[in-house]
Amino acid sequence: MITFETVSKVYEEGTRAVDSISFTVNKGEFFVLIGPSGCGKTTTLKMMNRLIPLSGGTIFINGKKISDFNIHELRWDIGYVLQQIALFPHMTIEENIAIVPELKKWKKDKIHRRVTELLEMVGLDPDTYRYRKPSELSGGEQQRVGVIRALAADPEIILMDEPFSALDPLSREKLQNDIIHLQKTIKKTIVFVTHDMKEAMKLADRICLMNDGKIVQLGTPEELIHQPVNDFVRDFVSGASLVNSSFNLEDMMEPIHDNKPLSSPRLPINASIEEVLTLLSKHELIMIERNGEVIGYVNRQMLIRYLSESVAVGGNQNV
Ligand code: ADP
Repeated sequence: MITFETVSKVYEEGTRAVDSISFTVNKGEFFVLIGPSGCGKTTTLKMMNRLIPLSGGTIFINGKKISDFNIHELRWDIGYVLQQIALFPHMTIEENIAIVPELKKWKKDKIHRRVTELLEMVGLDPDTYRYRKPSELSGGEQQRVGVIRALAADPEIILMDEPFSALDPLSREKLQNDIIHLQKTIKKTIVFVTHDMKEAMKLADRICLMNDGKIVQLGTPEELIHQPVNDFVRDFVSGASLVNSSFNLEDMMEPIHDNKPLSSPRLPINASIEEVLTLLSKHELIMIERNGEVIGYVNRQMLIRYLSESVAVGGNQNV
């Protein structure tokens, strides 16, 4: 279905983001790309729909080089879901979902039926939601629309780049379950980027664990857990199950009370545990923000307290 043959990406200033990787994503597979921040996941994903040009190697889709596709058809035939869904604010939900079907010149009544079907698929009442503007939806609902918009023109392949990481834990869980259900019914090939190993374990048929632009291990969740090829994989799998699994900054932070110093570095509420650790190793205190507004803070004591509680409660639940 999607085959990478010794694919590399070197950015202009010399960063080797992806270093001669080869793998195949099978038809109908839920394929997860995972690894530490900066390991090359997003670059790998964006090369598939030519949002980023390759520096070397070849990518094939159904046996055809991606460079041989008409760029518009390639993009229309590959659904794409981003972390922060960019729905067009002045358009209704129906119009947002209909963008690619319209580009593909579908008939009006076919588009209407498709929008109804898609909204129903993710539990949003079509009669209510199709006429709403994005600002009249919660974050979780907008993200759900982002997912179905990517499915609208029935693409064979869907690329998802951390699509649920900006959501609160409940919406996230709901959407993960939706996507598992969707995958079972529609049998699309999904390539999904995440840094959350628990999410990967839950969703993936196979997981591709990357580091420094290379593939460290590619296998089923069970293989990564039971036959890790090295300590990096072992640590990533067990470390993830220890602290990453249900990590939620809200559990760690103190809500803000006006007079805290605002000059401290900031992190968004959906930041990963690695980002919190990195920043708190350099700073005493960090501010937590949601939609650009400071809502709380964490300091080293809170981090230590959180970690000691996760170790006590969480254990190695995935191992
Ligand atoms: P990940 O998705 O795993 O966090 P990325 O694919 O975004 O990793 O990035 C891989 C490496 O390439 C990182 O070192 C990053 O800084 C670098 N990089 C990403 N995008 C660009 C760019 N447009 N220009 C230069 N370097 C980039």
